[in-house]
Order: sequence, then C-alpha cells, then structure tokens
Amino acid sequence: MSEPDFLPFTRPSLDEETIAGVVEVLRSGWITTGPWNARFEAALSEYFGGRTVRTFASGTVTMEVALRMLGVGPGDEVITTPMSWVATANVVLAVGARPVFVDIDPVTRNLDSRLVEAAITARTKALLPVHLAGLPCDLDALYAIAQRHGLRVVEDAAQAIGSSWRGRRIGSFGDFASFSFHPNKNATSIEGGCLVLPDDADPALAERLRLQGVRRFGADGMDVDVLGTKANLTDVAARVGWGQLRQVDAFNARRRALAQAYCVALDALGLPARGVRLPVRDFADGNWHMFQIVLPESVARPAVMQGLKERGIGSGVHYPAMHLFTLYRAQGWKPGDFPHAERVGAGTLTLPLFPGMRDTDVGRVADALDAVLRQCGL
Ligand SMILES: *Cc1c(COP(=O)(O)O)cnc(C)c1O
Repeated sequence: MSEPDFLPFTRPSLDEETIAGVVEVLRSGWITTGPWNARFEAALSEYFGGRTVRTFASGTVTMEVALRMLGVGPGDEVITTPMSWVATANVVLAVGARPVFVDIDPVTRNLDSRLVEAAITARTKALLPVHLAGLPCDLDALYAIAQRHGLRVVEDAAQAIGSSWRGRRIGSFGDFASFSFHPNKNATSIEGGCLVLPDDADPALAERLRLQGVRRFGADGMDVDVLGTKANLTDVAARVGWGQLRQVDAFNARRRALAQAYCVALDALGLPARGVRLPVRDFADGNWHMFQIVLPESVARPAVMQGLKERGIGSGVHYPAMHLFTLYRAQGWKPGDFPHAERVGAGTLTLPLFPGMRDTDVGRVADALDAVLRQCGL
C-alpha cells in the first residue's frame, strides 16, 4: 500500500454508476459473455462510426485474432515498431510470422513511415503501426504505402481510444484497428480489448476465433473447422467497459487539459533547454494516454524515479526498445539496430497523468521533477 497522498502515474476512474451496474450483473445469474457484451459491442460500433466491432479478453489476443483473420503465419513478415509494449511484436511471433522492425521518428516516437517501404519484401503481409501514447501515426502515408504494395494494416490502437487522425476518429476508418481496455488505458473493462473489422472481414470468424472455433447451427448442431482460442469478454467486464465508454471523451478532454498544463509548467522550468525532450504538443487529435518526457543521456533514470518516489510521485518506463529483450536478441537483433528507439527507450519517463488528477498535482510533479533533475546536475 502506498501513502494516501502518493500520486501514481495512472489510476482508473470508476464511477458509482458503473460499480452499481457491475453488482447488478453479478446478481443477474449471467456473468460471462451475454447481453452486456452485445450491448458493449453495439456501443463500440456506434463510437467507431457504425463499423463492425467484436470484443475480446485482452488487447493482445485482439491483435492476434486480427493477424489470424488475415491468414498471417509462418513465412510471413509484419512491419512494426520496436518502441511499444512487447505485446505488439509478441503476437506476430505467436502466429508464427516474423516481426520486421523499422526505427521510430525521434520526435513523435512512432514508427517512421519514411522507413517502411525499404523494409517491404515479397514476404510482407501487413503493417502493424502503434499509436504510441495515443499520438496518431501518419496514417495518410501508411495507408498509401499499404495500397501501393497490396498490404493489409492492423493498427495497434491499444492506447488510442478517442484519438483522431486529421480530425477523424482512430478506428472509424481504415483496415483493422485493435484496442485494449487494460486498467491503465484511457477506458478500461478491467482486462479486455476490441477489434474494429473492415467490410471484407467476417465477424462470425472473429467470434469463432475467440471461442474454440466453434460453429453452431440448427437447434443442436455444432462443428469446429478452425482452431480458435478462449478469449471472450465476460459480461462483468463488458458492463465496466460500457460504463467507461460513455465517459471516455470527457476523460480524454481532462487528460488534454492536464497535458497542456504540464507543457506550460515544464517550459517555465526551462526543461527543453536543459535537454529534456517533451512530447509532441497535439492537443487536437491525441488522447494523451501518457505524458512522456525523454531524459538526456547524462541523467540516470533510476535516480530520477527514486527521487520522484521519495517526493510521493510515481513514474513509469514505457518502454525499453523491445528488440533488445533477450527473446528478440536471440533472433538476431542487437544494440545499434534502431538508434532512435534505443535512445527513447533508455531515456523515456512517464509522468502521472489520469483524469482524476487535481490541477495542483501538475505543479507538484513539475516542482519535484525540477528539484530531482537539479540534484542530478541538470
Ligand atoms: C496495452 C497494450 C497492448 C496489449 O493490451 P492488453 O489488453 O494488455 O493485452 C498492446 N499494445 C500496446 C501498444 C499496448 O499499450
């Protein structure tokens, strides 16, 4: 347990209406996938402009199902970024294909679309871009590349619910889009995820893949013709997600306001001039899933995190460049392969940002960060 005034880097906002709704589901006699899942899927479809949406037990399995629906498997390559939660590349390995990393743009920290075409081979099946921290990737460039080369796109929009690209909501257009409802995300279902399907994808296949591949027909008929997994969303989770979806735009507006206040406070402390990189100031399209600074190489991140902790402030690392994890090094990647991702991975620091934060918390974090960085000689 942390002290009462400890400020974590994130915390879900669950209102009493949602909590009461969960209790009702628990008492209803039907607690796994059922009417609330259907209601959540309908609400998600409405949120994403009427597109077809199916829910899953996690954002990870959601992406895996998208790859399976596209037939991505052994011998295939999927182009993605090394700067993401490791789930992004793990799902490519899980279906037996090979992730092909391209470096990030050091300013946006998203996959650099200018490097994608050079990474395409005859084996490339799909692009798997990630909207890191909810900052949208350059979707004009990526979809143009996909169209030129006949590739499919699975957007890892795990962090991007409510973000837009040039004013159009992520997931409301494009190919596949995969979202996560992990408690740290901008809307949660405790655990869970959803997949927005393009018109040429079969929602019944998505349903079979999430439940053992079972196909039912007639009053008593059943067959299995594809290997599915067990990844359905419970009605308890769906009730939480439904309650969150109603509030996510308000949550995101609050996040944007706090992020704006952070930029003002950190500018006033002269952090950019001291070598600390601030995030891209997208207060129109981004959902501000995280507020991440990048520390200069001269500063030891563990000391900064410890100093913040001593001042009652939580922070996080999202993420180390994933090609440097043992599993990925064992497949041939090494330090120096993606210098921008490695630099960001070594210096990135996530500051507290969540809708329940008070206005005064921003100043508290900024002052603590300033003091800690001064102690570190910055
Ligand atoms: C959270 C996250 C995932 C995985 O979602 P889970 O619901 O935790 O399985 C995948 N990609 C990114 C970028 C994420 O942030």
